[in-house]
Amino acid sequence: MISIEDLRVRYESDRGVVDAVRGVSISVDAGEFYTLLGPSGCGKTTTLRCLAGLERPTSGRISIGNTVVHDSDRGLAVPTHKRDIGMVFQSYAIWPHLTVFENVAFPLREMRPRIDEAQIVSRVGKALELVQLSGYESRPAPFLSGGQQQRLALARAIVREATVVLFDEPLSNLDAKLRAETRLELRNLVKRLGMTALYVTHDQTEALTMADRVAVMRDGEIVQEASPVEIYKHPNSRFVASFIGQCNFASGKVGAIANGAGPGRIETEWGQIRFASPSDVPVGKDVTIAVRPENVTLVSHGSEDAAAGEVLETVFLGDSVECRVRLGNSDIVARVHPNQPLGVGDKIGVVVRPDDVAILKA
Ligand code: ATP
Repeated sequence: MISIEDLRVRYESDRGVVDAVRGVSISVDAGEFYTLLGPSGCGKTTTLRCLAGLERPTSGRISIGNTVVHDSDRGLAVPTHKRDIGMVFQSYAIWPHLTVFENVAFPLREMRPRIDEAQIVSRVGKALELVQLSGYESRPAPFLSGGQQQRLALARAIVREATVVLFDEPLSNLDAKLRAETRLELRNLVKRLGMTALYVTHDQTEALTMADRVAVMRDGEIVQEASPVEIYKHPNSRFVASFIGQCNFASGKVGAIANGAGPGRIETEWGQIRFASPSDVPVGKDVTIAVRPENVTLVSHGSEDAAAGEVLETVFLGDSVECRVRLGNSDIVARVHPNQPLGVGDKIGVVVRPDDVAILKA
């Protein structure tokens, strides 16, 4: 439904050259919820704006559905209003001088050929019903709460019945609680309407909870693209591992396991760590491994198959306790249940399951 091929955007000014997007290629299936995730300045908004036709790519090709909307080689650029898209941005861009009804009706009034008033009333009514704002039609838009304004922006994006909807940090103006509630609501609505979504955010929780597929961007490039579970469990780089949640890292050399069945252990500063052996990690290779704190299990000292550690620090987080443990020649952070009795100086056993060890490629 969305195809972006080798997109490049270079900004040149007297202050220098910025390569904001450096060869991004994306393919989003019909009905898919696809998220571009990355830190500020990595090029995600620029990518989205190119798709919307609000920014002119330096090179590349973009299609929406079966229509090529941009092709630098052919000098082709379909203007924004002729692209089959709806958009929701961070500053919802609702019009404060208009009522709720008129805000949603606005995109329809702009459409050519003209849509008659009865149609407009019916389509606006349907869009407001979907975002649960029926009954608010005559209210001035600024008299809505933050969450309602966000839903109004959404109604305006869907009223055109576009097949593709673009989101740029649409929840960032909401307070934390409302943001958490709205995430799933928004995802469910997009799914119910069968729309294809491209969603830009720097918030990893948002990306993990909402997306079918996540692309992590850094410095104008996609560095990993996978399902939320895959990207969380098997990050391919230190950057992705630490951008998406917390992670422990150690470096070491891959060794063969005892029966010679292939690679399976790594000598690290924590001591020997076993990993579930992916076939492309050869014996003798220097690698970095990543282990999530919730996958570090603390057991009683001297337990079988546990390495000896000592608790250095505990931090109470409410639903869990973060525990820094001395292990081998280094430290490792474990996240444990608050009921687990642990105190600084305790001797404990540390277990990391081979399946929970990610081998990083960079
Ligand atoms: P944010 O979340 O902060 O919006 P982003 O990942 O969306 O970040 P972009 O807004 O796409 O990043 O910007 C990518 C890079 O391009 C940044 O270094 C930014 O400063 C630069 N940039 C964006 N627009 C322009 C412009 N019009 N002229 C010059 N540089 C620009």
